[in-house]
Amino acid sequence: MDNNLDKKITQYLNDNKDNFISDLRKLLSFNSIKGEALPDKPFGEEPAKALDFMQSLCDEAGLHTTNYDYYCMDACLGDGEETIGALCHLDIVPAGEGWDYPPFGGEMVGSRMYGRGVTDDKGPAMAIFYAVKALLDAGVELNKTVKLIFGSDEETGMSDMAHYLKKVKAPDYAFSPDADFPVIYAEKNIMGGFYQANVEGSTKLVSIKGGTATNAVPNSAVAIIKHDTLPKAIDKITYELNDGLLTITAEGIAAHASLPHKGDNAISTLLKALVEVLPDEDAAKPLIKTLSDGLSASDGSGIGIDCRDDITGALTLNHGVIKYEDNVITSSFDIRHPVTLDYKEVMEKMKTALKGFELKKIYCSVGIYRPKDGKLVSTLQSLYREISGDTESEPIAIGGGTYARCLPNAVAFGPVFPNGNAGGAHTINEYADVDELLKAARLYAHCLYSLANS
Ligand SMILES: [Zn+2]
Repeated sequence: MDNNLDKKITQYLNDNKDNFISDLRKLLSFNSIKGEALPDKPFGEEPAKALDFMQSLCDEAGLHTTNYDYYCMDACLGDGEETIGALCHLDIVPAGEGWDYPPFGGEMVGSRMYGRGVTDDKGPAMAIFYAVKALLDAGVELNKTVKLIFGSDEETGMSDMAHYLKKVKAPDYAFSPDADFPVIYAEKNIMGGFYQANVEGSTKLVSIKGGTATNAVPNSAVAIIKHDTLPKAIDKITYELNDGLLTITAEGIAAHASLPHKGDNAISTLLKALVEVLPDEDAAKPLIKTLSDGLSASDGSGIGIDCRDDITGALTLNHGVIKYEDNVITSSFDIRHPVTLDYKEVMEKMKTALKGFELKKIYCSVGIYRPKDGKLVSTLQSLYREISGDTESEPIAIGGGTYARCLPNAVAFGPVFPNGNAGGAHTINEYADVDELLKAARLYAHCLYSLANS
């Protein structure tokens, strides 16, 4: 770290804390959830307003800005041929009910600010903008162009970056302040899809329903079958018999699909119980058994796709949603696949993995792997260690997916510090500590400067 530059950056951020707070508060005031598409605004009015506001700040600061059809905008400093990108988003998920503070108010309590998006991802977006303002104020020379990219569709499909990459060349290196510190150097491939089977001639099976999202371990699942007696009680299963209809309710523990060992899959528990209770001659039984044997093991061994690498670890499989209606069973899955292995092999195996079922859809969001000793990761990590004081930390690998995977040569980097004072993203009472955001801004300023001059 350049100590002389650090003095100037720190001074600028200290002197401009009130401006930072008022700019961030204004940015939080837009309810920028995806809305009805308008002719020239693909995500509706509010995301466009947030983008316009950010663009006006960047223009005022003297950056060169471009709006890409309201999918996103970028703001550039310098005119070097090579580019260093930083990717944030200004769209949010719905605020929901039950907040203790106004979700669009940016209210301060001590050093905490409350509001939808203050952590994910408007606070980080403002931090990266102030990082650039601090560099401008310090009068630094940059050999490469620094390009801030503000997206408008991170939360609902990331079509913003697909649009962007049709229009401009991707940055040579980039990081995305839309996750946690330290730097995330690897992310698994994320696969998803669903199987379907027609059930011809079952006289017993009435309905099955379990799970609400493929990327979550389901905490409950329910089936109804025609049955005359109450089966023997088993763990995590409740039976209820009414007029020849047996309701079987399985209880589990919710968790993120990338961490299935932290949960307990209620669909797997339900299928096991169904295999026990359904009579052998019922047409649904072999299909239920196939599903139970195939998709219950969270390492994928039930269908022979278990594998691992040294970077991101073992494959995980989550049977996230199941339903049976109109004689059709539909089972949706989420797979986190080791990033250095070939995901196409797994796709191929899955086509024929479940006898009697058709693989109706399968897709893959390709993960990230940037070597730890490469320029991008090593630069970010060493500056992070120096400025955070978290000197023992190493770059991390995750099973989740971040916004960084929308750009080639990008990694996710902050802004939430380990044990940081931030939380509530995607739930209620979202908050961030303004001093921590400014600390992230200081770090980002050094990272941009260093990447742009090496
Ligand atoms: Zn985000």
